[in-house]
Amino acid sequence: MRLSQMLFATLREDPAEAEIPSHKLLVRAGYIRRVGSGVYAYLPFLWRVLQKISQIVREEMNATGAQECLLTQLQPSELWKESGRWETYTKAEGIMFALTDRQGRELGLGPTHEEVITLIARDMIRSYRQLPLNLYQIQTKFRDEIRPRFGLMRGREFIMKDAYSFDADEAGMKVSYQKMNRAYHNILHRCGLAFRAVDADSGAIGGSGSQEFMVLADAGEDEVLYTADGKYAANVEKAISLPPDAVPSPFKAYKKLDTPNTPTIASLADFLQCSPTQIVKNVLYQVTYDNGMNVLVLVSIRGDQDVNEVKLQNELGRLAGEYGGSAVIGLKVPSEEDQQQWATKPLPLGYIAPNLSDDYIQPAKNLAAQFLRLIDPTAVELENFVTGSNESGYHVVGANWGQEFPLSKHQVDLRKSVAGDRSIHDPSQTLQTARGIEIGHIFQLGTKYSKAMGATYTNEQGEEVPLVMGCYGIGVSRLAQAAVEQSYDKDGIIWPVAIAPYHAIVVIPNINDNKQVSAAEVIYSELNRVGIEALLDDRNERAGVKFKDADLVGIPYRIVTGRSLQEGKVEVVNRATRESQEISVHEVVPTLRRWIDEAITAKTDVA
Ligand code: ATP
Ligand code: MG
Repeated sequence: MRLSQMLFATLREDPAEAEIPSHKLLVRAGYIRRVGSGVYAYLPFLWRVLQKISQIVREEMNATGAQECLLTQLQPSELWKESGRWETYTKAEGIMFALTDRQGRELGLGPTHEEVITLIARDMIRSYRQLPLNLYQIQTKFRDEIRPRFGLMRGREFIMKDAYSFDADEAGMKVSYQKMNRAYHNILHRCGLAFRAVDADSGAIGGSGSQEFMVLADAGEDEVLYTADGKYAANVEKAISLPPDAVPSPFKAYKKLDTPNTPTIASLADFLQCSPTQIVKNVLYQVTYDNGMNVLVLVSIRGDQDVNEVKLQNELGRLAGEYGGSAVIGLKVPSEEDQQQWATKPLPLGYIAPNLSDDYIQPAKNLAAQFLRLIDPTAVELENFVTGSNESGYHVVGANWGQEFPLSKHQVDLRKSVAGDRSIHDPSQTLQTARGIEIGHIFQLGTKYSKAMGATYTNEQGEEVPLVMGCYGIGVSRLAQAAVEQSYDKDGIIWPVAIAPYHAIVVIPNINDNKQVSAAEVIYSELNRVGIEALLDDRNERAGVKFKDADLVGIPYRIVTGRSLQEGKVEVVNRATRESQEISVHEVVPTLRRWIDEAITAKTDVA
């Protein structure tokens, strides 16, 4: 394409709306334009990038035997009611845009497609002979994100590749999952990204396994914990590890002590001159289930440790049935106002003991009458510990489970792992931390949707059993921006060659110089003829402006038909390394062909 004929406008200044480098650069270089909150137009350059990523995704999906299709964005509410997700998605989480049509029918705009694909599987898969199957699509998803930000990173309308596998049994599902795992590695390698596959939270669905693919970048919203030996990596939401050892308690006798103004662990440890590892802290939460039931939760954990609220939410999800619900729709530390709703008297905040009396809970219809007491193993292990006394200004020391305090039977890992913890697989390894952008998520779903929606098949024994499913997502538009976040410099974007909108840009420094123009025209048409995607900067602009724009837009190779033409040469600059070489005019095209092929296959080989 000729720049003079394209929609091409770059900005010198950073746009006010953008916070992170990749967002600023994509706006400045004319890749995207904000239309509304979390809603962006993909301009021609970006669309080419997205198509290249999509093509790589498509090739790798097809190579696994998956088939491409295109599902509906308008999704009838009945489907989501069958799976049990309508209320949580439209109300509790509120992530789904919902609308009512002229006939009064409720619809949602697809944030994901488990329901639609399960409907199709239910109708079309009858026999084990049809299995395994994997269907995928690449299309726009809609999510009413509460905090859309960072441009394409967290949009309310974005492009996703989602795939869904159907197998006869658990073992088959694991094979499908492994194939997708391999394909995801290949896709990210081919796109030229540095990434890590990490253990991920599988949420309330449980399921046997899930991994996220994290592109490593400081602007990432996720934290990854990993060990240097490469054997362990997990999202902090999911991570497990060994906590530091507790210091043995100096308090040999049980006593209640006057501990004024010590509502925090730090102030208490300071006052008692003890280690936070000798304290049992008791943290109050309030959970709301989808049936409207509220439960007050008291979590006991060692004083130096923090509660991982994702683990907590998962455990509360598993306990939902005990309260007549099926899913958690809200989890919070109850505010003063919340407490006034249910507390019979002011709580001894900062001085709560594990046996805080259930009398604090006022009887009410949608409220469990007793605290749900959960205890983390770090607290279970303690002896002669310090904890609250249920009376403001006082703590007890030298306490023991089974003596002063009953030990709750709900013992569960709720601890947040942190960098510096020892790893479970090898305690000589300590966890290190990195920021990551979640680009993909693969997930062993099992039978959650097939059971809920009655998607069954007849197995070899002639029995009707539910299909075993997996689901696999990649954020195509997020990936494009993550590539920029990982690869830029002060002058602009540096695209990995495989996903750059164009491979080369031919710059004519002075369009009034006929020799420069005609040499550029020849090279430009020759590049296109051999399939090298080229731009021609034939604008009537100063050379300096053109070079700046070429750097900003981030095209991998720049060819300049300038002074060296006199010796029959042109200047070729590599955007990533900034290396500049003079190459004779008729060598340019074969040389570039070689460089581009090398750059692209080098990435393919890694996998
Ligand atoms: P996140 O934790 O970032 O909100 P998610 O867990 O909700 O993501 P999935 O439902 O697993 O995401 O979706 C699959 C992929 O789609 C993600 O790995 C991510 O790359 C992409 N994605 C999800 N939400 C958005 C969004 N709002 N904007 C852009 N891409 C997104
Ligand atoms: Mg996810």
